Amino acid sequence: MKHLLQLNFSNKNIIILFLLIFLKIDSYSQFEKDSIQIRRIFDMALENGQAYKNLRVLCKEVGNRFTGTKQADSAVNWGYNLLKSMWVDTVYKMPVMVPRWHRGNIQRAYIYHDDIKLNITALGGSVGTKRKIKANVVVVNGIEDLENVGQKNIKGKIVLFNKPFDPKTINVFESYGACVNQRYSGASQAAKYGAVGVLVRSMTLQKDNHPHAGSMSYSDQNNKIPAAAISTEHADLLLEEMRKKPNLRVVMKMNCKTLPDVQSFNVIAEIRGETEPETIITVGGHLDSWDMGEGAHDDGAGIVHSIELLNLIKANGYRPKHTIRVVLFMNEENGARGAMEYAKWVKLRGEKHLMALESDAGGHTPRGFAISAPDSIFNIISGYKKLLEPYGCHVFKKSIWGGGVDINPLKLDSAVSVNPNMILMGFIPDSHRYFDYHHAETDVFENVHKRELELGAGAIGAIVYLIDKNF
Ligand SMILES: [Zn+2]
Repeated sequence: MKHLLQLNFSNKNIIILFLLIFLKIDSYSQFEKDSIQIRRIFDMALENGQAYKNLRVLCKEVGNRFTGTKQADSAVNWGYNLLKSMWVDTVYKMPVMVPRWHRGNIQRAYIYHDDIKLNITALGGSVGTKRKIKANVVVVNGIEDLENVGQKNIKGKIVLFNKPFDPKTINVFESYGACVNQRYSGASQAAKYGAVGVLVRSMTLQKDNHPHAGSMSYSDQNNKIPAAAISTEHADLLLEEMRKKPNLRVVMKMNCKTLPDVQSFNVIAEIRGETEPETIITVGGHLDSWDMGEGAHDDGAGIVHSIELLNLIKANGYRPKHTIRVVLFMNEENGARGAMEYAKWVKLRGEKHLMALESDAGGHTPRGFAISAPDSIFNIISGYKKLLEPYGCHVFKKSIWGGGVDINPLKLDSAVSVNPNMILMGFIPDSHRYFDYHHAETDVFENVHKRELELGAGAIGAIVYLIDKNF
């Protein structure tokens, strides 16, 4: 009896042991399989990638492509024709009405009497100055400082919003986040206190003499006053001059204006999923850029990353389970109309989204991904860390604000009601140099590094592969 029991017990042990070995082998081989596939994706991106070549054409042949301009139309055609020439199931243009803000040919500022020129650029959406503005200047350290400075010191003056990026903040996107409200709503907030114009310190850590453009918006309650970005060098020059002459006056002259909306397009390409074609993975960047430089990092990099994903899938002979949809969004910079149109369209069709991923943080070395998803899903994705570690892009950060301007409306509006577990993901590259170029004339092809760009394409290819396969 004792003997039999012992035998039974050890039989059970053997079964458990076999089960453990089997499971271990199974999970090990899965990890191995994924490692091999990811290795292939990176090999392809680094050895035979098309991203850098495509970026050169976009930057050098199309150039900058501000929403509503002829160059933006050229960018649409470039994207459409390129995607048509690739191995995809469908390519189409989605019509979208976009705003048309025109910079005009006058944007000047100088210190009166001394004739010291200040390098400015009108902020996107700003009204012009009619004739010109000539006024004293008051300096505030961000919107939060307006109340301290008070109406009696602001009324009738030009407000210089001078809150700088904090150099101690390691992630420069966070510095941007802490300052950008003075660019976006500074004019409308300063108008509340009676300001007549606004200059905003350029959104960069760098001390340079390029004004960095960007969008702004007015609120209906306050006067619309002109707003311009001033280079960091000239913001500091103005401060220095004001120390010598606190009552100096600055002249601002701009003839920018808003014209009626025009038609443009999002460009969309799809590879149909093999087993779950009705479920979508959207990957995109934005096709429009500011009207200076070449929109190389912002967001040419995101555009060629997204297009490259299709190449990487093809080259690896991988047939995705879900439909992979690449979207080249129009008008991220000054309205996000393409994003809203896309979300509306997804809602109308009642489409189920597994994930939307955006690359709109530049073409520098990939670090990982910002993820907005329920905890259970976030934990599964965090489990891929080991697979991406060899490539240095294994930071998975929980995000509360979503994945990017172009994909966030999907969550606000539509897709999430179909799939509450939908993943929004933002590609995170290294942040240290991005704002040297952001929205400035220095955002040109030459400032994008081939290998860094290609590593980014590999990282996006790898994460899309993992999500597609495992969900
Ligand atoms: Zn961008």
